[in-house]
Amino acid sequence: MAVMSAPAGGSRPFLNRRLAAFGTTIFAEMSALAARTGSINLGQGFPDTDGPAEIAEAASRAVLSGRGNQYPPGPGIPELRTAIAAHQQRFYGLTYDPDSEVLVTAGATEAIAASLLALLEPGDEVIALEPFYDSYAACIAMAGATRIPVTLRPSADGIFSLDLDELRNAVTPRTRLLLLNTPHNPTGAVLTGAELAAIAELAVDRDLLVVTDEVYEHLVFEGSHIPLAGLPGMRERTVAISSAGKTFSFTGWKVGWVTAAPALVSAVRSAKQFLTYVSSGPFQYAIAEALALPDDYYASFRADLARKRDILTAGLTAAGFEVYRPQGTYFITTDIAPLGEKDGLSFCRALPERCGVVAIPNAVFYDDQEAGRTQVRWAFCKRTAVLQEAVERLGRLAR
Ligand SMILES: *Cc1c(COP(=O)(O)O)cnc(C)c1O
Repeated sequence: MAVMSAPAGGSRPFLNRRLAAFGTTIFAEMSALAARTGSINLGQGFPDTDGPAEIAEAASRAVLSGRGNQYPPGPGIPELRTAIAAHQQRFYGLTYDPDSEVLVTAGATEAIAASLLALLEPGDEVIALEPFYDSYAACIAMAGATRIPVTLRPSADGIFSLDLDELRNAVTPRTRLLLLNTPHNPTGAVLTGAELAAIAELAVDRDLLVVTDEVYEHLVFEGSHIPLAGLPGMRERTVAISSAGKTFSFTGWKVGWVTAAPALVSAVRSAKQFLTYVSSGPFQYAIAEALALPDDYYASFRADLARKRDILTAGLTAAGFEVYRPQGTYFITTDIAPLGEKDGLSFCRALPERCGVVAIPNAVFYDDQEAGRTQVRWAFCKRTAVLQEAVERLGRLAR
């Protein structure tokens, strides 16, 4: 991924050393490939159907009635912060003060960036579960910190899991923070109560901060989502991050949030105010309404995605892939080795020509290139007819 950006006649590249390794993203390449070849894009994880019409109407009403069209308050509008606190209470029994313990951000992406920029000193070590979401490595680098991957691996039952001893062994005196993601993109793993309890014990024992990326909290198909902040000793050391984009299928609105103890929220807000300051004014009003939708909404959203998971799982299995059954998220990780394939990146580059489908090679989410070389990720947050057509096309691989 070399970046050719040296000034004419100069020897110093434009992009600084911290970011030099992050010059291009695979999503841009693969989405362009999908467009060029007319392929079905199961690469990038965005829904091809918008969220509830009544919520879109709420956003439109907010714009037309002049709510949120000018800079909203720095921490987010009170209506949304109150709705976020009510959501944490309703689903998890966790109590947060809307004024001092909730911060609205420009999507989960900004929440992650602001948290890492606020909480880390250069030289600190951050442990993240590998394969990791692409912004983690870049944000850790922007903070001048060092990432220490702990690799999730498929176990005998075909589900990715965390080796707790490996996690414990990764902690050093320089470790400041654990960056967790559950439900986990791209593997679909959902950390269990027992795993979270062990993580909490480790964090308390070694005095670590934890940032939890919980954007798929409402997409758990097996087991349940347990916020780490609810475990003993974690309330005061956990920054929990969520995303309305994922929960309500409005990824373009970029409304996310942080819930944490006052001192942590205040630290994250210090970084956030110099990134975007504020964002998504009218959408904040709409998401305040979305969070109050009845349980039906959340249940049918999950049931719909569960059906789609099953369609794509069956299709990928029939096409000859080894499928690691996701317990959550809207992604499936597969292995291409049973198809006689050895390299996910070349496989994904060739796939549009072979059968008109685009996927993402998991290797881009790893430091350990060998661990992810034959893994490929597929998004199933697409219309049923689109998934069925993709499955039909992928069937050609087996023939
Ligand atoms: C999509 C995603 C995000 C980013 O969420 P936005 O609200 O769109 O910024 C963060 N983390 C994970 C794991 C994601 O999949």
